[in-house]
Amino acid sequence: MRFVVATLFPELVNNYVKQGVVGRAVNKGIVGVETIDIRSFSTNKHRTVDDIPFGGGAGMVLMPEPVAQAIESAGTMSRTVLLTPSGRQFRQADAEAWSQLDSILLVCGRYEGIDQRIRDDFVDDAISIGDYVLSGGELGALVVLDATLRLVPGVLGNAQSVQSESYSDSLLEHPHYTRPAQWRGRDVPQVLLSGHHGKIAEWRRLKALQRTAALRPDLLKEACLTRKEKAQLANHSVVNGPEET
Ligand code: SAH
Repeated sequence: MRFVVATLFPELVNNYVKQGVVGRAVNKGIVGVETIDIRSFSTNKHRTVDDIPFGGGAGMVLMPEPVAQAIESAGTMSRTVLLTPSGRQFRQADAEAWSQLDSILLVCGRYEGIDQRIRDDFVDDAISIGDYVLSGGELGALVVLDATLRLVPGVLGNAQSVQSESYSDSLLEHPHYTRPAQWRGRDVPQVLLSGHHGKIAEWRRLKALQRTAALRPDLLKEACLTRKEKAQLANHSVVNGPEET
């Protein structure tokens, strides 16, 4: 998969993708990450890419021509996505869908954002990573890059770890424990030491349901629940059940 980020700060992206899971995938050639420096498409001798907003007001706006040229320089892309706080919220389902694409181009804004005509005519989608305003799209692009690339087959060592993760079936994931079994007066739940895989799976599912019901009840609407689980939720026995069993 080819992942391209158009930005005024390519080094922010290039440095991130040298590390960890994404860095290993890039080194192995499973995914390719490229950056395009929007400033290199400046049309004036001062290399500026921003100008004052029509209609007045504070701040500067990224001019359309350098951004359009940056987008065009990437060539044909499966998907071109603008990062903006006024976009729809990026979700795990997007990461899953986009991990199947051949190529994706993310366009990062700075200042007050990018001239609207880019959003109108040059991108397929506009997404936000959350309800807050960042000073640039690069952190958002890295969030999307990381969440997406780790789902590309071969990027994570253990493909199974993706399956039970938070959001993958609209539930938050169950808690994790490692050694030591007793630590500072706190014991690991007994069932996890039992070696009984059926019971462990049941416990993990219950914990995932309890957590989701307590912290993100909105997610339950989309979750695939058994009839028994729905009934448990309806009479609150999941939420109010014993914390550790
Ligand atoms: N004036 C704009 C904010 C611009 S912030 C507004 O009020 O909507 C500058 C750039 O940071 C944006 O162009 C966008 O690329 C990026 N950015 C800021 N917050 C973001 C968010 N929550 N999600 C994705 N990108 C964001």
